[in-house]
Amino acid sequence: MSDKKIPYKIYLEESEMPTAWYNLRADMKNKPAPLLDPVTHKPMTEADLAPVFCEELIRQELDDTTPYFEIPEEIRNFYKMYRPSPLIRAYCLEEKLGTPAKIYYKFEGNNTSGSHKLNSAIAQAYYAKKQGLKGVTTETGAGQWGTALSMACSYFGLDCKVYMVKGSYELKPFRREVMRTYGASVTPSPSTETEVGRKILAEHPGTSGSLGCAISEAVETATKHEGYRYVLGSVLNQVMLHQSVIGLETKIALDKYGIKPDVIIGCAGGGSNLGGLIAPFMGEKIRGEADYRIIAVEPAACPTLTRGVYAYDYCDTGMVCPLAKMYTLGSSFMPAANHAGGLRYHGMSTSLSQLRADGLMEATSVTQTEVFAAAEEFARVEGILPAPESAHAIKVALDMAKECIKTGEEKTIVFGLTGTGYFDMMSYEKFHNGQMTDYIPTDDDLAVGRKKLPKMD
Ligand SMILES: *Cc1c(COP(=O)(O)O)cnc(C)c1O
Repeated sequence: MSDKKIPYKIYLEESEMPTAWYNLRADMKNKPAPLLDPVTHKPMTEADLAPVFCEELIRQELDDTTPYFEIPEEIRNFYKMYRPSPLIRAYCLEEKLGTPAKIYYKFEGNNTSGSHKLNSAIAQAYYAKKQGLKGVTTETGAGQWGTALSMACSYFGLDCKVYMVKGSYELKPFRREVMRTYGASVTPSPSTETEVGRKILAEHPGTSGSLGCAISEAVETATKHEGYRYVLGSVLNQVMLHQSVIGLETKIALDKYGIKPDVIIGCAGGGSNLGGLIAPFMGEKIRGEADYRIIAVEPAACPTLTRGVYAYDYCDTGMVCPLAKMYTLGSSFMPAANHAGGLRYHGMSTSLSQLRADGLMEATSVTQTEVFAAAEEFARVEGILPAPESAHAIKVALDMAKECIKTGEEKTIVFGLTGTGYFDMMSYEKFHNGQMTDYIPTDDDLAVGRKKLPKMD
């Protein structure tokens, strides 16, 4: 098929949208390691998780054999409000670069939350509602997840309590107000509302908080209040399952035009967008039906997959959550204060960690100044102002497309453009003013986090 017949935007009809999420774990030969109880180190059962998580979400979390989960009709209808998301052929960028590469990106920023997070937020809110709960608690860092969840909860009439990392709460008032617009209550973390918050404040007075700490607070609040459960926007298998809608739509769109990607690139924080984007492609790769290069991109300031260890670790600072076997920098790790590019979680999805350990997925890291430079280069041609997180994937896609100029290769590159960056203008400002610096942790810095890994026997 001649290239020019491929439109700038490949849309799907509503009738072509996926009706089931794909559970990549069903096809993985080496399954991700189970979550363990932080005290007894025994695998967590449905009953163990029930006080914290919603019932149906626990079933999804623990199921590594069922390949497809039907998407309930209410969720499918909600998805239709902003999905299918476009798969865009970056003709303008290709021309500007003068590259023979063919570049496609799946844009998840065209909904209120400004990111892919709504795909899982609406599913989690739906199951909480179906269980008859009053509300949910969660944490948010930069605020995208909190925004998505607030919107999903208001849609289903659920109460939503968000612990927002204090540094972001103070520096990103606009996100906070978006959440409140959707009716969520937003508390800066660490707070004095929870035992774990008070303990962390006593140990680190004046701390600007961390994701791991906000998670501990949200979990404590959920377990101490009747009718509440805790929900999480990344890292967990259930989130990756919901995000498979990204990859499924991408695959349907590409298949419509007989396009086979050579490389699939995504940014990795906790791994949900990347896991979702690559899911059907990785499934084919594992089943031996096709081969793709799959690349995770992370910040050099928080190099979980490239420099972390693959080990059981705590998911939160307060050590109240189950242990997960993952690539980790240690639950006490915090990226340097000057890091503005997001993707700052110390761990990684257990499924993606296993895929990385099995050599099925590559990982690379990039510095934040090169990330913002790539974001700008992309914005000026493709018109979308990318989230700094998304720009990690852009950076690697651009590098590869530029490499193709030298080699003459007509590589087909697909990357995930997870969201827009309108709430990150303070970081862009720093970059424009030349005040942005790169910090790469030394091996000694990383050794500190590693020492605090739980002792396993
Ligand atoms: C949250 C977020 C990410 C990182 O989360 P993953 O779970 O790794 O996908 C990336 N991009 C945007 C825009 C986000 O909001």
